[in-house]
Amino acid sequence: MTASDCECPFCKGVIELRQKRLRLAECSLCGRPLAFARVTQNKAFVASLLDLAKVAMLPLVGGVTAAFALAYIDPQAYAGWIAGALLAWGVIDVWDGTAGLRTHVDRDPRGVLMEAEAWWRSIAKTVFGVTSTLLGSAGLLVVG
Ligand SMILES: [Zn+2]
Repeated sequence: MTASDCECPFCKGVIELRQKRLRLAECSLCGRPLAFARVTQNKAFVASLLDLAKVAMLPLVGGVTAAFALAYIDPQAYAGWIAGALLAWGVIDVWDGTAGLRTHVDRDPRGVLMEAEAWWRSIAKTVFGVTSTLLGSAGLLVVG
C-alpha cells in the first residue's frame, strides 16, 4: 500500500487513489459504488454509497414513525412512506447483491466474505431485495 492508495470501506481491499478531488466510482475489487473526497495530496475520505444510503434511511423511517405515533400524519400517508422505504431498501439490496454475484465479494457482520460464501450471501440479498422492491411497489400502488 503506497501513500496514494486507500482502503475500500466495503471489502477492505486496497484501491488506487485517483487525482480528482471528488469522484464517484465502483470499487475494482467488490464492485460497490464508492464516493471519494480528497483531503490532502495523499489522503482521501472514501465512503461506501450503499452504506450511506442505508444509514440515511434510518432517521427518515424513524422520523416518519414518530410523526405517525404523534398523529401528525394519517395511516395512509404512513403506509406510503413505509412502502417507499421498502422499495428503496430493496433497490439497495439488489444493487449490493448483484455486485456480489459479479465479483464474488460480500461481507457479513463478522467480516469480508469471498467466493462461494459471498456468492450465496449475494443470492440471498438479491432475492430479499427483489422481494422488498416488489412489496414496496405493490404497497405504493395500493396506497397511491
Ligand atoms: Zn471494495
